[in-house]
Amino acid sequence: MHPQLAEDLAQLPDLLEDTRRRAVAFLDGLGERPVVPVPWEPEVEPLPGRGVGLRAALEEFAVRWEPNLSASAGPRYLGFVTGGATPAALAGDWLTAAADQNSNSSLDPAGQRIERETVGWLRELFGLSDAHSGTFVSGATMSNTVGLAIAREWLGERRGVSPAEDGLAALGPVRVLSGSAHSSVAKGLSVLGLGRRALVGVETLAGREAVDPVALERALRETDGPCVVVANAGTVNTVDFDDLHAIAALRERHDFWLHVDAAFGAFAALSPDHAHLVEALDLADSVCVDLHKWLNVPYDSAVQFTRRPDLQARVFQNSAAYLGSVGDHPDLVHLTPENSHRLRALAAWFTLRAYGRDGYREIVERDVSCARAMGEAVAAVPGLRLLAPVRLNVVCFTLAEEPTAERLAALAAELNEEVFLTPTRYAGVPALRAAFSNWRTTDADVRRAADALARAVRKLL
Ligand SMILES: *Cc1c(COP(=O)(O)O)cnc(C)c1O
Repeated sequence: MHPQLAEDLAQLPDLLEDTRRRAVAFLDGLGERPVVPVPWEPEVEPLPGRGVGLRAALEEFAVRWEPNLSASAGPRYLGFVTGGATPAALAGDWLTAAADQNSNSSLDPAGQRIERETVGWLRELFGLSDAHSGTFVSGATMSNTVGLAIAREWLGERRGVSPAEDGLAALGPVRVLSGSAHSSVAKGLSVLGLGRRALVGVETLAGREAVDPVALERALRETDGPCVVVANAGTVNTVDFDDLHAIAALRERHDFWLHVDAAFGAFAALSPDHAHLVEALDLADSVCVDLHKWLNVPYDSAVQFTRRPDLQARVFQNSAAYLGSVGDHPDLVHLTPENSHRLRALAAWFTLRAYGRDGYREIVERDVSCARAMGEAVAAVPGLRLLAPVRLNVVCFTLAEEPTAERLAALAAELNEEVFLTPTRYAGVPALRAAFSNWRTTDADVRRAADALARAVRKLL
C-alpha cells in the first residue's frame, strides 16, 4: 500500500473525528457566514504528483475553498428552490458514503430493499397509490427525463413500435403539450431525441401560470393521435398548479400520457390548506418529485414514479449475464439511465424515520408561513411591488419603477451577504424570487431578509 494511504488508514478514526469537527464548525457558522460570498477566481493548482495525506488536505480545503462556499444549506439562501439537509438526512448521507453500496441488484440486495421501503414511504407522503412504483434518481431534471422516456415508449406502444428497440425514426413526430413547463422538460426532450421543439406551449389562465384546460382540450383536438401532456404542480415563479382533475378528465376524450412535474409542489400534500392542489396526483402516468429541495436531503436526490414500470424497463434494461435478468420485478439497474446506483435513498430513509409525516408537515407549513410574511414585508417596502400573490412558498416581486434586469441584479448583489435571491422574468417583467424550502428558516430570518431588502432598495433609489 502507498505509504500515504497506509498512514491515513492507521489514523482513520482520528481523521474522521477531525472531519466531523470541521463539519460541525461549518454548520455552526451557517447563520453568520455571507449567504453568497463575493465571487473570487481561484488559482488553479496542478495535479499533485505526491499527495499530502488527508490531514494536510483538510487544512488546505479550510484555507482555500471553505471560506468561499455559500450558506446554501442555511436559512436565508432563498435563490432557486433550495433545501438544506436535516440532521438525520446528513447522518444518512455520511453513512451512505461510509458504506459505499452499489444498490442496483438483487444479487446484493440490501441497498435496493432500503430504496424500495423509502419509495413506499414517499408514495404515501404524497398520496400516491401503490399503482405507482418509483426509483431514486439524481434530481428532478433526471426524474422528468425518465418520465418522458417512459412516455416515449408508451407512444411507441400506441403506434405499434418500440423506440427503445427500433429508434426514434420508427416513432415519428411527437407533440408534448404544457402550460408553463419547467426548462428541464425541454432539456429532457433534447436528451431523448424528441427535440425541444416537440414542446408546444398551451395558453394559461388569465394572469396565471396554470394551464387553461379549455385551451389544452383545443390543442389536443388539433393533435393527430396520442401525445404527451406535461402538467405542472408548482411552477417556479409563482407556484401555480394546473388543475390535475380537469386535465386527467380529458383522457375520456383524448389519448395522452400524463406526466406531472411536482418537483417541489408535491409537498403541498402535507399542508391541509393546500393538499387539494395535488389531490389528483395519483391519476398521472408518471410523476417527478425532487427530494434535495423540500425533503431537505443533500444533493443529489429525486424520485420518479410511474404506473408503467414495464415500459420503463423496456427503455432502461441493461441485459448482461452477470447483472441478472430483467424479469417481472426488475432490479434498479434496469430502471434508470445509470447502471451503478448510489444508495441515495438512505438520507431520505433517515430523515423520514427521524421526523415522519408530522415533522415534514411542520417544515412545509413554517416555510409557507415565512413566504407569506415575506410577501407582506415586500408589499410594505416603498419602491417594490409583488408580481403575483404568494400561493405557496415563493415570493415573486420587482421594482415599482424601472424594473430593468440590471437594476434588479444590482439590488440582488447588494443583498448577498444577508440573503440570496435569484432573478427571473414573470409576465414579461424582470423580477426577483425568494423561495422558502429550507428546514432551518424561521420568522427571524424573514425579518432579517426583509430589513436587508428595504435597506438595499433605499440605497438603489
Ligand atoms: C428544480 C426543478 C426542476 C429541476 O430540478 P433539478 O433537481 O435541479 O434537476 C424541475 N422542475 C421543477 C418544477 C423544479 O422546481
